[in-house]
Amino acid sequence: MVKNLDHKLIEQIEEMCAVRGVRLTPQRKRVFELICASPKASSAYELLEQLKTSEPQAKPPTVYRALDFLLEQGFIHRVESTNSFIQCNSCNAHKHYSHLLICDKCSNVIELQEDSLITLLTNNAKKHGFKITNHVIESHGICQSCTTGQTE
Ligand SMILES: [Zn+2]
Ligand SMILES: [Zn+2]
Repeated sequence: MVKNLDHKLIEQIEEMCAVRGVRLTPQRKRVFELICASPKASSAYELLEQLKTSEPQAKPPTVYRALDFLLEQGFIHRVESTNSFIQCNSCNAHKHYSHLLICDKCSNVIELQEDSLITLLTNNAKKHGFKITNHVIESHGICQSCTTGQTE
């Protein structure tokens, strides 16, 4: 299963950057395109290798700066348990926490936005006087296409 590059998504983040008055440099845009084009979560190292095909002078800080920008703008999510990155399913939304389903076979990541889950976690923590500042909600397993034996 190959994801087609979603040009509408790219246009959408271009518009949002214009509205927010932040600069979507060609490198930032390219890193976002690479993340969108990959059918699985991409590591910074993979992104750097791919970026080098069009920009041979690219260095690790180039990729990390672009990733920081994209994370800050809420265009991508970091998959903490595998230290990789995916595009956000709803880039037009405010910053949010998602429940990520990570396939250990094909590394595909499904983003679920379940506000009631976040509310539940926040309320449970509140009972202990604990104020949550970040959530990492990741589940590992086997995705549907891997379960049914479809080849990628
Ligand atoms: Zn998201
Ligand atoms: Zn899978």
